[in-house]
Amino acid sequence: MLEKEEINSPALEDLKKHYRSIITLLGEDAEREGLLKTPERVAKAMLTLTKGYHMDPHEVLRSAKFQEEYSQMVIVKDIDFFSLCEHHMLPFYGKAHVAYIPNGYITGLSKIARVVDIFSHRLQVQERMTLQIKECIQETLNPLGVMVVVEAKHMCMQMRGVEKQNSVTTTSDFTGAFNQAKTREEFMNLIRQR
Ligand SMILES: [Zn+2]
Repeated sequence: MLEKEEINSPALEDLKKHYRSIITLLGEDAEREGLLKTPERVAKAMLTLTKGYHMDPHEVLRSAKFQEEYSQMVIVKDIDFFSLCEHHMLPFYGKAHVAYIPNGYITGLSKIARVVDIFSHRLQVQERMTLQIKECIQETLNPLGVMVVVEAKHMCMQMRGVEKQNSVTTTSDFTGAFNQAKTREEFMNLIRQR
């Protein structure tokens, strides 16, 4: 499915060459029929999975920023994401939950999910991705507070047999009104409701 996407990166040809070398270095025959088109497929897949480098999440929020007097907590929970850990370039994936308390401005709910999508389509560590989502919303909407919780499974741990195979890593970060334990609790209770 990935290779059907139109990818016009100037890096494509070089990536194909390098992935062909990698296949050879791993001990395979890069000329084997099943592998002939693999360097191209992998190159295109990697370009797709890192397309977030060419997108501006601040602009996504700015383009859908509306004046609004609503000042209760806005929550977008269970945002599915897939990312690549920058240490092993293996997937980590899970759910992001975002809450903010507007201070005169709101944004489209789908835009919050877009922000998660853009930051996750880069080489990441879960901690930094959590912080970047938080900062992007804080800087763009200037809310009274924002909180981000990310729950993820890391293939680099699961596939390599490091630690518990099914462990979920949770990270969180917040600003402003979420410094109050009571406000954080309200958010945590709401995202735990299934
Ligand atoms: Zn890793």
